[in-house]
Amino acid sequence: MTRVYFLLGGNIGNREELLSEAIRKMTNQLGKYIQSSSLYETEPWGFTHEQNFLNQVVIFDSELAALDILDKTQAIEKELGRVRKTTQYCERTIDIDILFYGDEQIENERLSVPHPRIQERSFALYPLKELIPEFIHPILKKSIKQLRNECTDELEINKFN
Ligand code: ATP
Ligand code: CA
Ligand code: CA
Repeated sequence: MTRVYFLLGGNIGNREELLSEAIRKMTNQLGKYIQSSSLYETEPWGFTHEQNFLNQVVIFDSELAALDILDKTQAIEKELGRVRKTTQYCERTIDIDILFYGDEQIENERLSVPHPRIQERSFALYPLKELIPEFIHPILKKSIKQLRNECTDELEINKFN
């Protein structure tokens, strides 16, 4: 059993509905749902778009291998209408990233875990800090709280209700 931390985000369609639908599908397929953060509304990171993102961190306990989880979350992205474009940072209905897979380090063609850009992104660090402020990043060896304090990302982020 591994505790797995995900970041969900989307900026087109019914954003709240898509997040809860993703969590519902993940609960059916991945294992035991543990907890989710508040929703955070953030400006697009790395590109501009008129519609802001809603982001949320969700935690599951899973018996699945990390690559099997990636297969399942990518299938869920597809089911929920995500269209992959050639430009990397663009609008999307739903993006599901694996932030941490326990405290394991995974590096292969399809997967980098911990997600390599957590420490650069307020929209990942704020919801993570809400749930696991003392969690130590297995590579950077710093707590989420510390990474959040050191992060210079200045994109606007607000709790969404
Ligand atoms: P970013 O990874 O910077 O947030 P993105 O989420 O927009 O960018 P995608 O187009 O969703 O990028 O994914 C590109 C590829 O990233 C996926 O096909 C997947 O194989 C790979 N990938 C590597 N590490 C991870 C991870 N930790 N979680 C999800 N996908 C990952
Ligand atoms: Ca992403
Ligand atoms: Ca992704």
